[in-house]
Amino acid sequence: MNRYLLFLAVFPLTLLKAETDVSDWFRGNTHTHSLWSDGNDFPENIVDWYHLNGYHFVALSDHDILAEGEKMMSVDKIKSRQRAIGHGAIPKCEARFGKDWIQRKTVDGKEMIVLKTLEEFRGEFEEPGKFYIMTAEEVSNNSTTGPVHINALNVETVIPSNKDKTVDTREVMRRTLRAVAEQAEKTGKTIITHLNHPNFQWAIKAEDIAAVTEEHFFEVYNGHPGINHLGKEGVPGDEKIWDIANTIRLGELDAHPLFGVATDDSHTYHGGDVSPGRGWIMVGAEKLDGDSLINAMKKGDFYASSGVYLKSLDYDKASRTLSFKIKPGYGESFTTQLIGTRKGATKDVEIGEIFGTIKGQTVSFTVPDDALYLRATITSSKPHHNPSFKDQKKQAWLQPVGWR
Ligand SMILES: [Zn+2]
Ligand SMILES: [Zn+2]
Repeated sequence: MNRYLLFLAVFPLTLLKAETDVSDWFRGNTHTHSLWSDGNDFPENIVDWYHLNGYHFVALSDHDILAEGEKMMSVDKIKSRQRAIGHGAIPKCEARFGKDWIQRKTVDGKEMIVLKTLEEFRGEFEEPGKFYIMTAEEVSNNSTTGPVHINALNVETVIPSNKDKTVDTREVMRRTLRAVAEQAEKTGKTIITHLNHPNFQWAIKAEDIAAVTEEHFFEVYNGHPGINHLGKEGVPGDEKIWDIANTIRLGELDAHPLFGVATDDSHTYHGGDVSPGRGWIMVGAEKLDGDSLINAMKKGDFYASSGVYLKSLDYDKASRTLSFKIKPGYGESFTTQLIGTRKGATKDVEIGEIFGTIKGQTVSFTVPDDALYLRATITSSKPHHNPSFKDQKKQAWLQPVGWR
């Protein structure tokens, strides 16, 4: 045996492959609400929170509005949204930005505050490679089945929403996506959308998301406690929705699968239970700007997380093997489920089948020959620090592979 072969015998080939370090991927949340719509804090206070809490980017995604132009809100209304005494939006803003920061006006005898536009406060936080604020909107449609909320990321102008409750859900989704495509075409910007919280008011079915193949992203986790993440008797939870939709797309429609994002959908920032910091994405973008982040997401170079981080992540196309390493926390252990659907599967239990379960920080798994796709969900032994549902553990969700 020559020296090279001896080396190979001791260190199998898989170990010789270079690992892709993902510990420097950008962390961001693409779903927040401020006083510009139904949140209870000033946008600059919200951005300040994300800036201070280890994020590289955040999208302000208010309902049907961008933080531009003039918008005023009465002091009474701002105070009425407080959930805790003494920690309100106004004192917080004055403490952080100074007494002169807030612009007050009296209109018809009412004390009003002029909300700051994104352009007015962006400079307080943005720094190349360190922090970026993405322009976004939650296009808040209605349809025959209920709310059809779609986040448009990196938009330039407001995408109009449909409020007519007689319009079919799939048609509503398609209208939003058409409007986004038109704006992208016109402005030359890279814009993507993610379909939000399908189980909110039980409005959107996996089959609807599957059918609207122009949509490539959806929220596999949203931190709002009211969005029915786990589903209910007879209605699948968000993860199962993901598998049902991707099985239809890859097995029947020959269409692009859905990628999963995790978001906060935060509304309350001082008291209240719709708080920030619950779900986010880690993105492997070359640069920290809107176009680069979106382009990386389009390629699937990101994962969703509610507390689990990766050190490395690779998919080897030749051997169809997904491998990754998890960053451990103190006293933390991990269980990874490798999930997918086999070609021809029709029974409910066969959709999103668990192909394998691996314990530990190092995972390597080959896509079964007859699988339409493979994805991984990692669950930590540690509870989520701010759970949005009972017994929630820290998790990460990796994008489907093996489907091309
Ligand atoms: Zn929503
Ligand atoms: Zn929202």
